[in-house]
Amino acid sequence: MEMINLKGKTQEELDEFAKSIGESAFRGRQLFKWIYHRGESDFDKMTDIGKELKKKLRETSHVSVIKLVDRVTADDKNTEKFLFQLADGNLIESVLMRYEEHLGFGRCTVCISSQVGCAQGCTFCASGKNGLVRSLTVSEIVDQVMQVQSSMNDTAERVTNVVVMGIGEPLANFKNVVKAIGLINHGDGIAIGMRHIAVSTVGIPRMMKKLADEKLSIRFAVSLHAPDNETRSKIIPANRKYPVESIIDASKYYQKVTGRRITFEYMLIDGLNDSLDQAKMLGKLLRGIHAMINLIPLNPVKESPYKRPARNRCYQFAKEVEKFGHKVIFRNERGTSIDAACGQLRNRMTEKEKGS
Ligand code: SAH
Repeated sequence: MEMINLKGKTQEELDEFAKSIGESAFRGRQLFKWIYHRGESDFDKMTDIGKELKKKLRETSHVSVIKLVDRVTADDKNTEKFLFQLADGNLIESVLMRYEEHLGFGRCTVCISSQVGCAQGCTFCASGKNGLVRSLTVSEIVDQVMQVQSSMNDTAERVTNVVVMGIGEPLANFKNVVKAIGLINHGDGIAIGMRHIAVSTVGIPRMMKKLADEKLSIRFAVSLHAPDNETRSKIIPANRKYPVESIIDASKYYQKVTGRRITFEYMLIDGLNDSLDQAKMLGKLLRGIHAMINLIPLNPVKESPYKRPARNRCYQFAKEVEKFGHKVIFRNERGTSIDAACGQLRNRMTEKEKGS
């Protein structure tokens, strides 16, 4: 008989599971708290569950845990990268970023992966170098947050924010990502507020609309990176299928349905998408959308030949976009010393294994 993995199951599913082994739904509630709130995976340590039930649980089910195989801290100590091994041997990465905030309350953001590898093949990104292996299961997505949290359990730190911006395209793993968000948010479990959860997409219009219809009050980001199809198609292969206009159309739909501001990520690449003309085009393109433009100076990766523009050029670009009334922010670069840009640690490990 196949053992049922209880991690990745919702409250209702655990209620059903409890009933299926002849217990009351109340046992499902207890399991939910043990699994997601306490982060416990060993039935023997679940103190309010009796001997008989523990035995039944061991015979029918298990609570999966992804295995931490490497943890690297950046020079500034505020960025850490976690490399996890999945049950089938595949590797994924998560990144923890600490931000000091006023009044002494810190923000701890975990950037999680949604797939093993990525099918998108964006030319500037390390994640898609070797294509897609598979999508992550719900438990593998949720467990990244849980394992990073459990690594800080002996400190006062808590994960406060989750961004689905690691390896993979979250909207290409729609069902599992949406279910995982529900679990990460649930008040009896990990309990991270919807407004503290963000999803970033390469821009798949049909799936963007589908996400809008879920009416989650998460933060939503679109990796635009260029205002015109000619430039965007050079760096993002998906643009040939889903051109800029279709992404803008889906963004407007998303905003209409959810009423929420949308973040447009714009990575600045030297000589490619950083001209003042492109800044003007971007400003015009986003007219009529309540947008935040997140300018990210390219994080150079050894997998691609691009360079980041000079600082001054980035500021000029920002100023030009602001003239259109948009809010523009610079995303601070993080973790360059540990290759925290998407997929780099995983690539390094895989290369090592190959002996290169
Ligand atoms: N597939 C999703 C989420 C993963 S990528 C998406 O495309 O949004 C998360 C973000 O990191 C995206 O905005 C992506 O374009 C950006 N990114 C990838 N490689 C980068 C690099 N070398 N420098 C800066 N940003 C990068």
